[in-house]
Amino acid sequence: MKTDLRSLTYEETENLITSLGEAKFRARQLYPAVFKVKNLDEITTLSKDLRAKLSENYCIESLATAQKQVSKKDGTVKFLFRLADGNFIESVFMKYLHGNTLCVSSQVGCLMGCNFCASTIGGKVRDLTAGEIIGQIIAAQEETGERISNIVMMGIGEPLDNYDNVIKFLKIVNHPDTLNIGYRHISLSTCGIVPKIYELAELNLPITLSVSLHAPFNDMRSEIMPVNRKYPLDTLVTAMKDYIKKTGRRISIEYALIQGKNDTKECAKELARLFCHGLFHINLIPVNNVRERNYKKTTREATRAFCEALCSRGLNATVRRELGSDIDAACGQLRRKQEEN
Ligand code: SAH
Repeated sequence: MKTDLRSLTYEETENLITSLGEAKFRARQLYPAVFKVKNLDEITTLSKDLRAKLSENYCIESLATAQKQVSKKDGTVKFLFRLADGNFIESVFMKYLHGNTLCVSSQVGCLMGCNFCASTIGGKVRDLTAGEIIGQIIAAQEETGERISNIVMMGIGEPLDNYDNVIKFLKIVNHPDTLNIGYRHISLSTCGIVPKIYELAELNLPITLSVSLHAPFNDMRSEIMPVNRKYPLDTLVTAMKDYIKKTGRRISIEYALIQGKNDTKECAKELARLFCHGLFHINLIPVNNVRERNYKKTTREATRAFCEALCSRGLNATVRRELGSDIDAACGQLRRKQEEN
Protein backbone atom coordinates (compact mmCIF):
# COMPACT_ATOMS: atom_id res chain seq x y z
CA MET A 1 0.00 0.00 0.00
CA LYS A 2 1.32 3.41 -0.99
CA THR A 3 0.98 6.38 1.35
CA ASP A 4 -1.26 9.21 0.21
CA LEU A 5 0.78 12.42 0.02
CA ARG A 6 -2.38 14.31 0.98
CA SER A 7 -2.15 12.69 4.42
CA LEU A 8 1.20 14.32 5.19
CA THR A 9 1.73 17.58 7.06
CA TYR A 10 4.17 20.09 5.61
CA GLU A 11 6.87 18.99 8.07
CA GLU A 12 6.42 15.35 7.09
CA THR A 13 6.67 16.25 3.42
CA GLU A 14 9.87 18.15 4.08
CA ASN A 15 11.31 15.17 5.96
CA LEU A 16 10.34 12.88 3.10
CA ILE A 17 12.06 15.14 0.57
CA THR A 18 15.29 15.36 2.56
CA SER A 19 15.25 11.60 3.20
CA LEU A 20 15.31 11.16 -0.59
CA GLY A 21 18.47 13.28 -0.72
CA GLU A 22 16.72 16.30 -2.23
CA ALA A 23 16.94 19.96 -1.25
CA LYS A 24 14.36 21.16 1.27
CA PHE A 25 12.84 23.72 -1.10
CA ARG A 26 11.50 20.88 -3.24
CA ALA A 27 8.90 20.40 -0.48
CA ARG A 28 7.67 23.91 -1.20
CA GLN A 29 7.08 22.83 -4.79
CA LEU A 30 5.61 19.46 -3.98
CA TYR A 31 3.29 20.31 -1.10
CA PRO A 32 0.84 22.78 -2.73
CA ALA A 33 0.75 20.70 -5.93
CA VAL A 34 -0.38 17.56 -4.10
CA PHE A 35 -3.70 19.24 -3.31
CA LYS A 36 -4.25 20.48 -6.85
CA VAL A 37 -3.41 17.55 -9.13
CA LYS A 38 -4.55 13.93 -9.28
CA ASN A 39 -1.28 12.36 -10.35
CA LEU A 40 2.37 12.80 -9.40
CA ASP A 41 3.28 13.02 -13.09
CA GLU A 42 1.41 16.29 -13.36
CA ILE A 43 3.89 17.97 -11.00
CA THR A 44 6.31 19.03 -13.70
CA THR A 45 8.19 21.47 -11.46
CA LEU A 46 9.82 18.35 -10.02
CA SER A 47 12.30 16.29 -12.00
CA LYS A 48 11.15 13.04 -13.58
CA ASP A 49 13.66 11.27 -11.43
CA LEU A 50 12.23 12.65 -8.19
CA ARG A 51 8.68 11.89 -9.30
CA ALA A 52 9.72 8.29 -10.00
CA LYS A 53 11.38 8.00 -6.59
CA LEU A 54 8.31 9.39 -4.89
CA SER A 55 5.91 7.12 -6.71
CA GLU A 56 7.66 4.00 -5.41
CA ASN A 57 5.96 4.43 -2.03
CA TYR A 58 3.68 7.44 -2.38
CA CYS A 59 0.64 8.44 -4.40
CA ILE A 60 -2.02 11.12 -4.63
CA GLU A 61 -5.44 9.78 -3.82
CA SER A 62 -8.53 11.57 -5.00
CA LEU A 63 -12.16 10.66 -4.45
CA ALA A 64 -14.53 9.62 -7.22
CA THR A 65 -18.01 11.12 -7.27
CA ALA A 66 -20.45 8.19 -7.26
CA GLN A 67 -23.58 10.30 -6.87
CA LYS A 68 -24.55 13.92 -6.58
CA GLN A 69 -27.97 15.16 -5.49
CA VAL A 70 -28.81 18.83 -5.78
CA SER A 71 -31.64 20.25 -3.67
CA LYS A 72 -34.15 22.22 -5.68
CA LYS A 73 -35.12 24.08 -2.52
CA ASP A 74 -31.85 25.62 -1.41
CA GLY A 75 -28.94 24.53 -3.62
CA THR A 76 -27.58 22.08 -1.05
CA VAL A 77 -25.56 19.35 -2.75
CA LYS A 78 -25.16 15.91 -1.27
CA PHE A 79 -22.22 13.89 -2.55
CA LEU A 80 -21.63 10.18 -2.35
CA PHE A 81 -17.89 9.64 -2.86
CA ARG A 82 -16.17 6.36 -3.63
CA LEU A 83 -12.84 5.77 -1.89
CA ALA A 84 -9.92 3.94 -3.50
CA ASP A 85 -10.87 0.69 -1.72
CA GLY A 86 -14.50 0.84 -2.92
CA ASN A 87 -16.05 2.13 0.30
CA PHE A 88 -18.53 5.00 0.15
CA ILE A 89 -18.79 8.17 2.22
CA GLU A 90 -20.99 11.26 2.12
CA SER A 91 -20.33 14.99 2.16
CA VAL A 92 -22.85 17.81 2.05
CA PHE A 93 -22.26 21.20 0.43
CA MET A 94 -24.35 24.04 1.89
CA LYS A 95 -24.64 27.68 0.98
CA TYR A 96 -24.83 30.12 3.87
CA LEU A 97 -24.56 33.89 3.95
CA HIS A 98 -21.20 33.59 5.70
CA GLY A 99 -19.81 31.33 2.99
CA ASN A 100 -19.91 27.87 1.45
CA THR A 101 -19.76 25.10 3.99
CA LEU A 102 -18.87 21.45 3.52
CA CYS A 103 -19.97 18.83 6.01
CA VAL A 104 -17.33 16.09 5.89
CA SER A 105 -17.23 12.47 7.04
CA SER A 106 -14.47 11.20 9.31
CA GLN A 107 -15.06 7.43 9.16
CA VAL A 108 -16.68 4.80 6.95
CA GLY A 109 -19.67 4.03 9.16
CA CYS A 110 -19.64 4.66 12.89
CA LEU A 111 -19.21 2.67 16.08
CA MET A 112 -21.14 4.92 18.41
CA GLY A 113 -24.60 3.42 17.96
CA CYS A 114 -26.78 6.52 18.45
CA ASN A 115 -30.18 5.04 17.73
CA PHE A 116 -31.60 7.98 15.73
CA CYS A 117 -28.65 8.07 13.33
CA ALA A 118 -28.40 6.21 10.01
CA SER A 119 -24.57 6.38 9.92
CA THR A 120 -24.15 3.82 12.65
CA ILE A 121 -26.53 1.11 11.44
CA GLY A 122 -23.88 -1.10 9.80
CA GLY A 123 -21.21 -0.30 12.42
CA LYS A 124 -17.78 1.09 11.60
CA VAL A 125 -15.87 -0.23 8.58
CA ARG A 126 -12.72 1.86 9.02
CA ASP A 127 -11.26 5.26 9.84
CA LEU A 128 -10.64 7.78 7.08
CA THR A 129 -7.10 9.00 6.51
CA ALA A 130 -6.38 12.74 6.74
CA GLY A 131 -6.03 12.70 2.94
CA GLU A 132 -9.48 11.21 2.48
CA ILE A 133 -11.02 13.86 4.71
CA ILE A 134 -9.35 16.74 2.85
CA GLY A 135 -10.11 14.93 -0.43
CA GLN A 136 -13.82 15.50 0.17
CA ILE A 137 -13.27 19.27 0.13
CA ILE A 138 -11.08 19.17 -2.97
CA ALA A 139 -13.62 17.00 -4.84
CA ALA A 140 -16.59 19.13 -3.75
CA GLN A 141 -14.81 22.31 -4.88
CA GLU A 142 -14.12 20.72 -8.26
CA GLU A 143 -17.70 19.51 -8.64
CA THR A 144 -19.37 22.77 -7.62
CA GLY A 145 -16.78 25.17 -9.03
CA GLU A 146 -17.03 27.12 -5.78
CA ARG A 147 -14.57 27.76 -2.99
CA ILE A 148 -15.40 26.19 0.33
CA SER A 149 -14.60 28.48 3.23
CA ASN A 150 -16.11 26.60 6.16
CA ILE A 151 -15.97 23.02 7.31
CA VAL A 152 -18.17 21.13 9.71
CA MET A 153 -17.08 17.68 10.82
CA MET A 154 -20.62 16.42 11.17
CA GLY A 155 -20.79 13.81 8.44
CA ILE A 156 -20.49 10.06 8.88
CA GLY A 157 -18.35 8.91 11.78
CA GLU A 158 -17.17 10.12 15.17
CA PRO A 159 -14.19 12.44 14.66
CA LEU A 160 -12.80 11.91 18.16
CA ASP A 161 -12.82 8.14 17.57
CA ASN A 162 -10.37 8.84 14.72
CA TYR A 163 -8.46 11.41 16.73
CA ASP A 164 -4.96 11.31 15.24
CA ASN A 165 -6.08 11.46 11.61
CA VAL A 166 -8.61 14.18 12.37
CA ILE A 167 -6.02 16.37 14.13
CA LYS A 168 -3.67 15.82 11.21
CA PHE A 169 -6.44 16.79 8.81
CA LEU A 170 -7.04 20.02 10.76
CA LYS A 171 -3.36 20.94 10.56
CA ILE A 172 -3.16 20.12 6.85
CA VAL A 173 -6.33 21.93 5.78
CA ASN A 174 -5.25 25.01 7.74
CA HIS A 175 -1.82 25.21 6.07
CA PRO A 176 -1.39 28.20 3.70
CA ASP A 177 -0.06 25.92 0.94
CA THR A 178 -3.10 23.63 0.94
CA LEU A 179 -6.66 24.95 1.35
CA ASN A 180 -5.75 27.58 3.93
CA ILE A 181 -9.00 27.26 5.86
CA GLY A 182 -8.82 29.10 9.18
CA TYR A 183 -9.47 27.14 12.37
CA ARG A 184 -12.21 29.63 13.21
CA HIS A 185 -14.05 28.39 10.14
CA ILE A 186 -14.00 24.77 11.28
CA SER A 187 -16.45 23.01 13.61
CA LEU A 188 -15.91 19.56 15.03
CA SER A 189 -18.85 17.64 16.40
CA THR A 190 -18.59 14.82 18.93
CA CYS A 191 -21.04 12.53 20.68
CA GLY A 192 -18.98 13.06 23.83
CA ILE A 193 -15.78 11.00 24.06
CA VAL A 194 -14.67 12.60 27.30
CA PRO A 195 -10.90 11.81 27.41
CA LYS A 196 -10.50 13.12 23.87
CA ILE A 197 -12.28 16.37 24.77
CA TYR A 198 -9.58 16.92 27.42
CA GLU A 199 -6.87 16.09 24.88
CA LEU A 200 -8.34 18.47 22.32
CA ALA A 201 -8.51 21.26 24.90
CA GLU A 202 -4.74 20.93 25.43
CA LEU A 203 -4.12 21.67 21.73
CA ASN A 204 -5.95 24.96 22.10
CA LEU A 205 -6.98 25.16 18.45
CA PRO A 206 -9.48 27.97 17.83
CA ILE A 207 -11.97 25.61 16.16
CA THR A 208 -15.57 25.39 17.36
CA LEU A 209 -16.38 22.29 19.36
CA SER A 210 -19.93 20.95 19.11
CA VAL A 211 -21.27 18.35 21.48
CA SER A 212 -24.23 16.21 20.46
CA LEU A 213 -26.17 16.11 23.70
CA HIS A 214 -29.75 15.23 22.71
CA ALA A 215 -30.86 14.42 26.27
CA PRO A 216 -30.25 16.04 29.68
CA PHE A 217 -30.90 12.92 31.80
CA ASN A 218 -28.58 9.91 32.03
CA ASP A 219 -31.22 7.22 31.54
CA MET A 220 -32.67 8.91 28.49
CA ARG A 221 -29.28 9.73 27.00
CA SER A 222 -27.94 6.21 27.56
CA GLU A 223 -30.98 4.82 25.79
CA ILE A 224 -30.54 6.91 22.66
CA MET A 225 -26.73 7.32 22.78
CA PRO A 226 -24.86 4.25 24.11
CA VAL A 227 -21.67 6.33 24.49
CA ASN A 228 -23.34 7.84 27.56
CA ARG A 229 -22.98 4.52 29.42
CA LYS A 230 -19.22 4.89 29.17
CA TYR A 231 -19.07 8.67 29.66
CA PRO A 232 -22.15 9.77 31.63
CA LEU A 233 -23.51 13.30 31.59
CA ASP A 234 -21.76 14.63 34.68
CA THR A 235 -18.33 13.62 33.32
CA LEU A 236 -19.24 15.10 29.93
CA VAL A 237 -20.45 18.40 31.36
CA THR A 238 -17.29 18.67 33.49
CA ALA A 239 -15.13 18.06 30.40
CA MET A 240 -17.07 20.69 28.44
CA LYS A 241 -16.59 23.27 31.18
CA ASP A 242 -12.88 22.44 31.35
CA TYR A 243 -12.64 22.86 27.56
CA ILE A 244 -14.21 26.32 27.75
CA LYS A 245 -11.94 27.31 30.61
CA LYS A 246 -8.78 26.17 28.82
CA THR A 247 -9.57 27.47 25.33
CA GLY A 248 -11.83 30.44 26.05
CA ARG A 249 -14.01 29.19 23.17
CA ARG A 250 -17.70 28.63 23.48
CA ILE A 251 -19.19 25.18 22.92
CA SER A 252 -22.13 24.55 20.71
CA ILE A 253 -24.60 21.93 21.91
CA GLU A 254 -26.58 19.92 19.35
CA TYR A 255 -30.02 18.87 20.49
CA ALA A 256 -32.24 16.96 18.05
CA LEU A 257 -35.85 17.16 19.16
CA ILE A 258 -37.71 13.84 19.16
CA GLN A 259 -41.44 14.08 19.67
CA GLY A 260 -42.62 12.97 23.10
CA LYS A 261 -39.11 12.00 24.17
CA ASN A 262 -36.61 14.76 24.76
CA ASP A 263 -38.87 17.75 23.99
CA THR A 264 -40.64 18.01 27.35
CA LYS A 265 -40.73 20.85 29.89
CA GLU A 266 -38.66 18.74 32.30
CA CYS A 267 -35.95 18.39 29.65
CA ALA A 268 -35.85 22.14 29.02
CA LYS A 269 -35.61 22.79 32.74
CA GLU A 270 -32.77 20.30 33.24
CA LEU A 271 -30.88 21.62 30.20
CA ALA A 272 -31.09 25.11 31.66
CA ARG A 273 -29.79 23.83 34.98
CA LEU A 274 -26.84 22.02 33.39
CA PHE A 275 -25.75 24.73 30.99
CA CYS A 276 -26.73 28.10 32.40
CA HIS A 277 -23.19 28.89 33.53
CA GLY A 278 -20.65 29.12 30.79
CA LEU A 279 -20.24 29.86 27.13
CA PHE A 280 -22.77 27.48 25.66
CA HIS A 281 -24.96 27.84 22.64
CA ILE A 282 -27.79 25.36 22.11
CA ASN A 283 -28.67 24.41 18.57
CA LEU A 284 -32.13 22.87 18.33
CA ILE A 285 -32.66 20.57 15.36
CA PRO A 286 -35.97 18.85 14.63
CA VAL A 287 -34.83 15.19 14.38
CA ASN A 288 -34.67 13.94 10.80
CA ASN A 289 -36.81 10.94 10.14
CA VAL A 290 -34.68 7.92 9.38
CA ARG A 291 -36.42 5.06 7.65
CA GLU A 292 -34.95 2.45 9.98
CA ARG A 293 -36.13 4.25 13.14
CA ASN A 294 -39.54 5.27 14.33
CA TYR A 295 -38.72 8.58 15.95
CA LYS A 296 -40.90 11.49 14.98
CA LYS A 297 -39.78 15.03 14.49
CA THR A 298 -41.08 17.54 17.06
CA THR A 299 -43.57 19.95 15.50
CA ARG A 300 -42.55 23.45 14.54
CA GLU A 301 -44.70 24.94 17.32
CA ALA A 302 -43.30 22.62 19.98
CA THR A 303 -39.76 23.34 18.78
CA ARG A 304 -40.37 27.05 19.15
CA ALA A 305 -41.87 26.53 22.61
CA PHE A 306 -38.85 24.45 23.69
CA CYS A 307 -36.52 27.17 22.43
CA GLU A 308 -38.54 29.79 24.32
CA ALA A 309 -38.36 27.72 27.49
CA LEU A 310 -34.55 27.65 27.26
CA CYS A 311 -34.17 31.32 26.37
CA SER A 312 -36.47 32.44 29.17
CA ARG A 313 -34.15 30.61 31.57
CA GLY A 314 -31.17 32.58 30.27
CA LEU A 315 -29.77 30.06 27.81
CA ASN A 316 -28.55 30.98 24.38
CA ALA A 317 -30.64 28.75 22.09
CA THR A 318 -31.64 28.87 18.43
CA VAL A 319 -33.48 26.60 16.03
CA ARG A 320 -31.34 25.40 13.15
CA ARG A 321 -32.56 26.07 9.65
CA GLU A 322 -33.09 22.82 7.75
CA LEU A 323 -31.25 22.46 4.46
CA GLY A 324 -31.48 19.70 1.89
CA SER A 325 -34.55 18.00 3.36
CA ASP A 326 -35.54 16.84 -0.15
CA ILE A 327 -32.26 15.00 -0.81
CA ASP A 328 -31.65 12.65 2.14
CA ALA A 329 -29.18 15.13 3.56
CA ALA A 330 -29.41 13.74 7.08
CA CYS A 331 -26.47 11.75 8.40
CA GLY A 332 -25.65 8.58 6.56
CA GLN A 333 -28.90 8.21 4.63
CA LEU A 334 -27.40 8.22 1.15
CA ARG A 335 -24.66 5.75 2.00
CA ARG A 336 -27.29 3.42 3.52
CA LYS A 337 -29.25 3.42 0.29
CA GLN A 338 -26.11 2.71 -1.75
CA GLU A 339 -25.14 -0.21 0.51
CA GLU A 340 -28.63 -1.68 0.22
CA ASN A 341 -28.41 -1.59 -3.55
N1 SAH B 1 -20.30 11.68 15.60
C1 SAH B 1 -20.39 13.10 15.67
C2 SAH B 1 -20.56 13.80 14.34
C3 SAH B 1 -21.47 13.18 13.32
S1 SAH B 1 -23.21 13.31 13.49
C4 SAH B 1 -21.47 13.52 16.64
O1 SAH B 1 -22.15 12.67 17.17
O2 SAH B 1 -21.59 14.70 16.90
C5 SAH B 1 -23.59 15.00 13.27
C6 SAH B 1 -24.83 15.44 14.03
O3 SAH B 1 -26.03 14.92 13.43
C7 SAH B 1 -24.84 14.96 15.46
O4 SAH B 1 -25.28 15.99 16.30
C8 SAH B 1 -25.85 13.83 15.41
O5 SAH B 1 -26.36 13.54 16.66
C9 SAH B 1 -26.86 14.40 14.44
N2 SAH B 1 -27.80 13.44 13.86
C10 SAH B 1 -27.61 12.18 13.48
N3 SAH B 1 -28.74 11.63 13.01
C11 SAH B 1 -29.68 12.58 13.09
C12 SAH B 1 -31.06 12.62 12.78
N4 SAH B 1 -31.71 11.57 12.28
N5 SAH B 1 -31.72 13.79 12.99
C13 SAH B 1 -31.07 14.87 13.50
N6 SAH B 1 -29.77 14.88 13.82
C14 SAH B 1 -29.09 13.75 13.62
